[in-house]
Amino acid sequence: MKTFHNYIAGAWVEPSTGKYQDNVNPADTTDHIGKFPLSGAADVQRAVESAARGFELWKRTPAPARGDVLRRVGEIMIARKEELADLMTREMGKPLAETRGDVQEGIDTAFYAATEGRRLFGHTVPSELRNKWAMSMRRPIGVAGIITPFNFPLAIPTWKIFPALVCGNAVVFKPAEDVPHTGHVFVEILLEAGLPPEVIQLVHGDGEVGKAIVEHPGVALVSFTGSTETGSKVGETCGRLHKRLSLEMGGKNAQIVLDDAKLDLALDGVLWGAFGTTGQRCTATSRLILQDGIHDKFLAMLVDRAKKLKLGDGRKAGTDVGPVIHAESISKIERYVEIGLEEKAELVLGGRRATGAGLDKGFFFEPTIFAAVRSGSRLEQEEIFGPVLSVIRVKDADEAFRINNGVKYGLSSSLYTQDVNLAFRAINELDNGITYINAPTIGAEAHLPFGGVKATGNGHREGGWEVYEFYSETKVGYVDY
Ligand code: NAD
Repeated sequence: MKTFHNYIAGAWVEPSTGKYQDNVNPADTTDHIGKFPLSGAADVQRAVESAARGFELWKRTPAPARGDVLRRVGEIMIARKEELADLMTREMGKPLAETRGDVQEGIDTAFYAATEGRRLFGHTVPSELRNKWAMSMRRPIGVAGIITPFNFPLAIPTWKIFPALVCGNAVVFKPAEDVPHTGHVFVEILLEAGLPPEVIQLVHGDGEVGKAIVEHPGVALVSFTGSTETGSKVGETCGRLHKRLSLEMGGKNAQIVLDDAKLDLALDGVLWGAFGTTGQRCTATSRLILQDGIHDKFLAMLVDRAKKLKLGDGRKAGTDVGPVIHAESISKIERYVEIGLEEKAELVLGGRRATGAGLDKGFFFEPTIFAAVRSGSRLEQEEIFGPVLSVIRVKDADEAFRINNGVKYGLSSSLYTQDVNLAFRAINELDNGITYINAPTIGAEAHLPFGGVKATGNGHREGGWEVYEFYSETKVGYVDY
């Protein structure tokens, strides 16, 4: 089995701990991908020191030239798209159609970021005084600590690292411990594209490495995507140490289907939203809010279609739903099935680990649907991060909107209706970072901001021009003449 290393101070190096972990395919745990470092604080220390040197060089590189490196990164990603999608599916489990989308998001982000190298705008304004020039500009900040989750192994690192780089920061990157191979190949691509060695550092490991990055005084800003539980700890540390921080965390997203909706469209939407990526998306549809008039009919249609979803290895043609990421996810989902039953929700589909037909070798869970879920119950309120959908019955749009807003999270929401007035009302009134009309709760475009409110995030978005404000700071200059 191949052994992989960290990338620190311009070289591929072993971790100071001498410890490694096995990375396995979640669809077939007998398929070993490689051994990856379980690093420690000493590796983070070296990485931050090196990144600080990289920053001195990179901040002096003109922003358009920094953008040119990212354009080459995008070109390499296009050329290696199939290979990247395949290795991501092997390591993370979602089907190839989805990992191709994950790579494409990275490609789009690369080209968008590349052109931002020519658009890091400041302002020149008329001064209040005579013979004075008044202006602002954007400056790089320093070493950026980038900590990412397992579910979008490439897209999420690109959302953070590309804008961080084009703004002139150096990066210490810690990918999730479940998807280190994608992180490794991504850093190889950055280097192949001509990124100077000390501008990027890759430190593999678990939460202890993430913690060491967040706590290191040499890290000026932290961008974290992951669970609300972990993100809250990261937030406390950054608050104490006065670090700039972007948090993108959990979700409990609802699709609302009203009586006047096109049911076939809404059905495709919820199947993809709830069971795509095996429910392991921050934007996954985990609540389905159905209006009384269509409730029974729609639920029957949904159960019928969800039953037919084909579970299996995402690298095989015909697979609709892959595995979840690891054994602990299975246990967590099983716990929530028990909670649902205790709360007297009606289990109408699934509820068990999937077995047979080669599934025993991996972490597969049957698509699971609970009906008659009570608003306010734990099943309805808490993020499960698996293929579990809670169905809630409502009498009208007002009640649906109230229930949508009645959770601590605020990432995405979706409304299926033919009523244009309600559509605009929903965009205005639903407490989420993103609202989709007649489309599922998922999806993002590289040139619009992505992110959530409340316990989902702290307002610094990924994507769009807004993210360039996070990775740079405003400096004001006055010139008397
Ligand atoms: P996680 O919180 O377990 O881990 C995320 C990352 O944080 C990993 O790299 C992990 O090693 C690291 N980490 C763990 N403990 C740490 C600590 N104390 N300090 C610093 N870093 C630490 O999340 P996960 O299971 O990888 O991902 C799933 C979660 O991510 C879900 O809650 C999901 O909703 C969320 N997510 C959010 C978005 C978004 O944009 N809002 C996108 C994708 C995933």
